[in-house]
Amino acid sequence: MTERSEGPPLTSEELAERKMRFLFALRSRGVTDTRVLTAMEKVDRGLFVRGIFADRAYEDMPLPIACGQTISQPSVVGLMTQALQVNPRDTVLEVGTGSGYQAAILSQLARRVYTVDRYRRLAREAAELFRQLDIANITTITADGSHGLPDQAPFDRIIVTAAAEDPPGPLLEQLKPGGIMVVPVGQSDAVQSLIKVTRTATGFDYEELRPVRFVPLVEGLGSE
Ligand code: SAH
Repeated sequence: MTERSEGPPLTSEELAERKMRFLFALRSRGVTDTRVLTAMEKVDRGLFVRGIFADRAYEDMPLPIACGQTISQPSVVGLMTQALQVNPRDTVLEVGTGSGYQAAILSQLARRVYTVDRYRRLAREAAELFRQLDIANITTITADGSHGLPDQAPFDRIIVTAAAEDPPGPLLEQLKPGGIMVVPVGQSDAVQSLIKVTRTATGFDYEELRPVRFVPLVEGLGSE
C-alpha cells in the first residue's frame, strides 16, 4: 500500500543511521522529554509520508501529504507534544489529523486520542494506518474541528495543528480546568505564534512559546 520513492531501497544500516540522526536532530532542537523522545523513536515517520517524499521522512522538515496539506516538521511535533505535558490517563483532542503522525505519537502517551480532520480522505487513510500499526486508542473523525467534539468533551489536553486567528472559543470551552491546549495562532501565510493555554479555576493563562508556520484552520468540510 505504501508507495516508495525511486532508487534502491535503503539497507537496514542506512535506515538505522537515518533514524539515529533523526533523534539527534530532535534533541538538538530542544526535544528533551524522555517520554516524548521514546514515542518518537517508536512511531516510524516513514510510514506517514507517501510517494516521492518518502525518502525524506527522517529529515527535520515539513513534507507535502494528500489534499494539499503537510505533515509537520518533526522537531515542531516534538516541541508541541512536550509543551502539552500529556499524562498516561489523559484524553486528548487533536484538531488536524493530516497524516496521522502526531496522533500516533500522542497515542503512546495518553489513554485516548480523538483526532479530527476536515478531509474525509485524510481521516480515512490515517485510520487505516492506525489499524495496520495496531494502535487501538485513537478515534479518527471527519469533522470541522474548530467546533471541537462536544459529545466527547471535556478534554485534558487539546492540540491544534492548523493555525487559527485566535484560539477557537469552543475548544477553550471543551478544556478541563487544569487542562492544556497548544495552538498556533496568527494569520496564514505569515509567521504565527505557538501558544500554550492553561485553563485555571478562574480563567485562562496564555504563554507564547515560539514562532511557527502551519496551514490555516479552515471552516467546513474539505472536498475530498
Ligand atoms: N497533525 C498533522 C499535520 C496537520 S496539517 C500530522 O501529524 O501530519 C493540518 C491539518 O489540519 C490538515 O490536514 C487540514 O485538513 C486540517 N484542518 C484544517 N482546518 C481544519 C478544521 N477546521 N477541522 C479539522 N481539520 C482541519
